[in-house]
Formats: sequence, C-alpha cells, structure tokens
Amino acid sequence: MKVRQNVRRFFALIIFLTMILGIMAPGYVIPAKASFEAKYYNIEESGGTWDGTNYILNDEIIRDAFFCDGVYTYFLQSDGTPMTNRLTYHPDGEHIIYFDEDGHEVFSNFAHVKTSIAGDEVDDLCFFDVHGYMYTNVLTYDQKGEILYYANPYGVMECNGWFQFAEGAGGVANAMGATEGKWAYAYPDGRIEVGSLGDESVKKIYKPYDLENEKKKTSVNGVSIEYKVFISDYDWQTTVANKETAGSTELGKAIEGIAMDIDGDDNLSVSYQVYGQLYGWLDIVSDGTITGMPSSGLKMQAIRVGLSGSDAELYDVYYRSYVEGLEWLDWAMNGEVSGTTGVNRQLEAVEIVLTPKGSEAPGSRDVFCVDGEANKGAKVAVGNKLYCFSPDGNLRVVDGSKPMVALTYDDGPGDGTPTILDTLAAYNQAATFFVVGSRCNSYRDTLIREYNMGCEIGSHTWSHVILSKASEETIRSQMTDTDNVIEGIIGIRPTTMRPPGGGYNSTVLAVVERPAIMWSIDTLDWKTRNTAMTISAVLDNVSDGDIVLMHDIHQPTVAASQTIIPALVDRGYQLVTVEELAYFRGGMEAGKAYSSFR
Ligand code: ZN
Repeated sequence: MKVRQNVRRFFALIIFLTMILGIMAPGYVIPAKASFEAKYYNIEESGGTWDGTNYILNDEIIRDAFFCDGVYTYFLQSDGTPMTNRLTYHPDGEHIIYFDEDGHEVFSNFAHVKTSIAGDEVDDLCFFDVHGYMYTNVLTYDQKGEILYYANPYGVMECNGWFQFAEGAGGVANAMGATEGKWAYAYPDGRIEVGSLGDESVKKIYKPYDLENEKKKTSVNGVSIEYKVFISDYDWQTTVANKETAGSTELGKAIEGIAMDIDGDDNLSVSYQVYGQLYGWLDIVSDGTITGMPSSGLKMQAIRVGLSGSDAELYDVYYRSYVEGLEWLDWAMNGEVSGTTGVNRQLEAVEIVLTPKGSEAPGSRDVFCVDGEANKGAKVAVGNKLYCFSPDGNLRVVDGSKPMVALTYDDGPGDGTPTILDTLAAYNQAATFFVVGSRCNSYRDTLIREYNMGCEIGSHTWSHVILSKASEETIRSQMTDTDNVIEGIIGIRPTTMRPPGGGYNSTVLAVVERPAIMWSIDTLDWKTRNTAMTISAVLDNVSDGDIVLMHDIHQPTVAASQTIIPALVDRGYQLVTVEELAYFRGGMEAGKAYSSFR
C-alpha cells in the first residue's frame, strides 16, 4: 500500500517541545531490507494471556509476531519480548515503523525517535501515518493546515537550517510547489520558511504555492496587483500579489529593485517611485517597469505607489514597508511615502493591495513614513514612541513603555570621548555631555560629532566654576560664554546645564535660565579612576529613570563605558538623553533642579 497519496493530509500534531533535532547528516544509513511473513495476533480474537512481557497462547510463548492487546500493537521479538524504543522495517520489507519506550507501535502521530533503524542513538522527529508507516519525502502541514514540515527521505523532519528537497521518490515535495532539488529553510522547531523558501546556492526565494490560485482568492473583482522585488545578494524573487509579502522579514537583506503591474483591468495602471541609498528619489515609472538599483548593492528605503487610468476611481492602493529595525510600518495609500527617507534604514519587504475605493485601511495609520529628510535633528512623537532623528541622519526610536536611563558625562570633551561615542553609535544609543566651554574649541570635531549623532550637549560652565560660590555676574558670564562657543561650533545653545561640583542655590537656578541636571547615580569615577568600580557603581545600582554621573576625561571611565553601554542595552535599557528622559517622565523646566526622572 502506498503511504503518501495525500500530501495535504492534516494529521494530529503532538506536542513539539524541545525539539532541537540533530541535523540530518549525509551518511545516514538505512540497512538492507529483509522481508518475511509476520503473524498477527489479537488477544480479543485469539485468546491467550498477556502479562506485559510475553503473550502466551496454547502454553506457547509467541515470537516474531505482531500482537494487539486490545489497545496497543506490539512486535514480539524472537525472544518473545516486545520491541521497544526502536525504529524498524515492517516485516513487509518496505515500510518503516516505530515502537515507543512502552513497546507501542505509533500510529497517526509524531514520535521522537531515539534509536535509528541501524541501532544508533539519534534524536529525530518523525511522523507515522494511520498504518504506522513513517512519512518519507513528504511536505506536510500541521492539523490546522498552517505550519509546514518536511519529512526527508530518511523520515526525519528537517529543522534548524537549510535543506534540499529530495529528487525523485515520487516528487511529493514537488506537488506542493516546492521544487525537487531546491533548497528551503527549516527553523529549529521544524517549521519551514513559507513565502520565502530560499535557495542558499542560487539565492532564489520562491513561493511554495500557486500564484494564480492566490490571486483569485484575494483579487478585487478579478483585478490584482502583482509585484516582485530584487533582494540584496539574492536575485529577483517570484512575483507575488495582493498583500502577499515580497522580500523577507527574516534575512536582514535590503530590497534593491522593484516592479509592479495590474492584472485583470486594462483601464487601470499602477505608477510607482522609489527612494534609495545615495540616489534618492528616482523617476516615476509604471506598469511592470523595473526601478530601483537592482544588483547595485544600493538599498531601497522608501516607495510611493499610485493608480491612474479611467478605472482608478474604483480603487485605492494600500502598501506598507518592513524596515530594518522598525519592522512593519503602517499602511500608506495612494501616493503617500512608505518607508524611511534620510535615515539610511533599508527596506526589506513590502506588501501592496488594491481595495475598492473608500475602503478602510488594512491597519492603523500612525507611522507610514519615517521622514528623516524633513525631520533631521528633530524628535517626532508618535503614540508612546519618540522618533529621534539625529542631525546626521541616524534614527533612534525611544519607546516610552520601556525602561530608560540617561548616561551623562561631565568636564569634557576629552581625548577619550570619541571612544565613548564609538560605543554609543555601535549600539545606536545616546548620552548627554555637559561640556566645559573653555575646552570646546580644542575639541571642535568631538563636540560636532556628539551633536551630529544625536547626543545632548549641556553646559558645564566656561571654566568649571562652583556657581553657588560665584557672583551673579560670574554665573551669567560663565553661562553666556559657554553658550556662545557651543553655538559657534554646532549652531545651537545648550538647553540644560549641570552645575560644577553639583553646587547650586536659588540664585544659580534663577540666573542659568534652564533646568539644572543633577544625578541619581554618582559613580565617583573622578575619585576612584577605576574601571571595575565605575562599572559596578552603574550596573549594581541602575534602575529605570536614573541619571548617571560620569566624566569622559578619565580613561578608566572611557574603558568602563565599553562595558556599561552594552550591558545596559542587554538588560533592556534604552540609553537616552536627559531631554528624552524628561520628555517621557514628567518634563522639566527652567529654574528647577532634577536628579532623576521616574
Ligand atoms: Zn565637573
């Protein structure tokens, strides 16, 4: 009997816990088959006694036979005991069957096979059908018809990496649209990447199902929008349609080229325009024309899509972008920009759909374009998030619902400051630098870099004067001189300050005309000059809303920052500027001092 007539059979799915299976290595050996006639006994028909170890019929121990105790089926070996924990050929010499640790033959279920047919120790997930026969070379779904698995020719469910569909052997995989010999990707739990089945060697991603059927299901009155993308290091991908994902949300690869077309309506055209790394907006093209810079290595970053033609009034076109680090943005429509501009984030996948005119958007529409070009240097609030665009076009998104900490560095800029900036940049984080005015001209480039990457520049007076002991006139000149030198270098005047030595009084607060920023974690780094102590001062005490005091002019602090920054990120902290922290945690105003924002 053939086992695998129906590749779409939905079978009972047993619990798939901890199934990091050993990858199916080449050299997996199935020994030669031997065929013999095995008798079959059922205690309900044949009588006899069964003690769980031996089946005795007519005073004789039954051997080399199948036996059913009314519920379970066993195979009684030549010594009369049931075979346990063993993959074996059915005596018919053709099919492979499995007996679990209790000796029960497995039917219509997965089993974690612990001993191979050759007797080797393995840990393979296999499926056995209603006859108990192992699935081999079958692409199959779970019981909901959603999760796709592939049992390779050895019966092992592929997992944890790339695999190749077997050739020949009935072409079962091919019947699903997965081409024999092609590569696909299986996750550690055995789930196969669907919608972007890939080919590691030719880097081709293709759909495992029939596009025509998919289009019929989802078109509007038979009218579809079709599109295809070129993925970096891959190639042009199979055309998809009607809200299917083109590109990949798993590979971390940019789209470099795109083409789209309308199917089913000669009076409807689609026009589109793309924005990309270095080249900006290209000319608008339409109806199947390739645009972008395929195979150039230049990332596409945003798209616009619009409809024209006499039937355009019947439809809206919605589209959305999956962007590096931001995931899916919301749906844009009818010519709006979707994606990011000016922040150098690659577009990795798009979905496009036609809807009858006036239809609701497929989702909410808070952010459908991250407009870094228009917003350079700005912070844009969307819901509970702050999109922080640095002057040099970097984007950090701060989520108000997640923990955040403000690292602050005083007394610089210094020789070690660029190293701290390198680390912040590597983790896309920010800090606040309370700089000393008299140092700024000597460290112009460092100050400019701090500002350009989105860090906050605060004032720490011109010459580190203890303001609480200074005259009003001195306080004023210390602040004004610092504001002037900073403005001369980066074009903006600091809006926060930190009093040297933490010394302030009501006069200081009144004269500086901006919030005075104190701290909740004092690392004492200036005193200890000890990297390990600075690290533990932060990591042992930090909590949400803290302001951490450090000094970037000390090399041990620079070294400590190499550990502190990644460790805080690893713990889930967002490293934000004082201004950003205050934005989310109650705000701040001139004439007041703050030591934390919680
Ligand atoms: Zn200081």
